[in-house]
Amino acid sequence: MYQPLTAEQIRRAPKVLLHDHLDGGLRPTTIVELARENGYSGLPTHDPEELGRWFHDASYSGSLERYLETFAHTTGVMQTRDALVRVAAEAAEDLAADGVVYAESRYAPEQHLEGGLTLEEVVEAVQEGLELGEKRAADAGNRIRTGQIVTAMRHAARSSEIAELAVRYRDAGVSGFDIAGAEAGNPPTRHLDAFEYLRRENFHFTIHAGEAFGLPSIWEALQWCGCDRLGHGVRIVDDITVGEDGTSELGRLAQYVRDKRVPLEMCPSSNVQTGAAPSIAEHPIGMLRDLRFRVTVNTDNRLQGGTSLSEEFAKLCEAFGYDWDDLQWFTVNAMKSAFLPFDERLALINGIIKPGFAQLKWAVGR
Ligand SMILES: [Zn+2]
Repeated sequence: MYQPLTAEQIRRAPKVLLHDHLDGGLRPTTIVELARENGYSGLPTHDPEELGRWFHDASYSGSLERYLETFAHTTGVMQTRDALVRVAAEAAEDLAADGVVYAESRYAPEQHLEGGLTLEEVVEAVQEGLELGEKRAADAGNRIRTGQIVTAMRHAARSSEIAELAVRYRDAGVSGFDIAGAEAGNPPTRHLDAFEYLRRENFHFTIHAGEAFGLPSIWEALQWCGCDRLGHGVRIVDDITVGEDGTSELGRLAQYVRDKRVPLEMCPSSNVQTGAAPSIAEHPIGMLRDLRFRVTVNTDNRLQGGTSLSEEFAKLCEAFGYDWDDLQWFTVNAMKSAFLPFDERLALINGIIKPGFAQLKWAVGR
């Protein structure tokens, strides 16, 4: 009989994480300590355990206002160089302890300027932290490689400036660019100048699209903006019709996404929180995996979601009966889609991921 793989077992597998927000992954104790150090008085409680629960409840409340409030607190305590170094270092350590071997961490530099830092100082502090975290993780026996994705807020008007910032730091830790924030009313084409600049610079970018908003957002992100990957992209299922006999018919956009192997950065728990999917069991990821879209599995916000990459995979195993082969497939998909040079992606797939999964499959005999 099928016994779903547990998060504990999955933690031992070498995993790849492409979509994880730095301001969505703080440890509750760190938030409390940083608030005290920096005189941030907005927290609902100073008890780390209660605070962790508050974040979880606010995120699952179904209220966008309460959900956004959680980020006001996390970015609120990330306004100094030391705070950014600490948060980034702990993110790398926590991910490594969860068995993540490659991670791209994203955040919006423009949201960390209230303490007087410049955009450059923010990027440098985060990079220092990530490298420190990589080193500490290696000392603890967990090897991880990280990269930054620099994000611009889609409701703001700084995307060109942030795109230039990302390119300026391309050889100093920044591997990609993204836009995030409320999708409705803020189509990606509002930031066309930034994307055209990035393409001229041969730079990589992803776009949060097709999460809350439907197919037009995905279409614009791909065909007007030219993104390499789609952040979420769950609404691509709106372009797929399932017949009574169970066969699927793909519309032109869904066909394009599958044909071009466009990576979908799917975040199951997060999509349930925001209402983009009714439940994990009904998440489109099951269908999209069956249809062999380039699906990847991600955490989005580990703090708000009360989750980790291992736990996301465990939930999928429970809902869809996935085994090690499926998990390896998702992981190789993610590594193929990383903003990293081809030879380095290949080295991680053949040198770390495949041998790691082979060992696990051999150990448990499946
Ligand atoms: Zn996201």
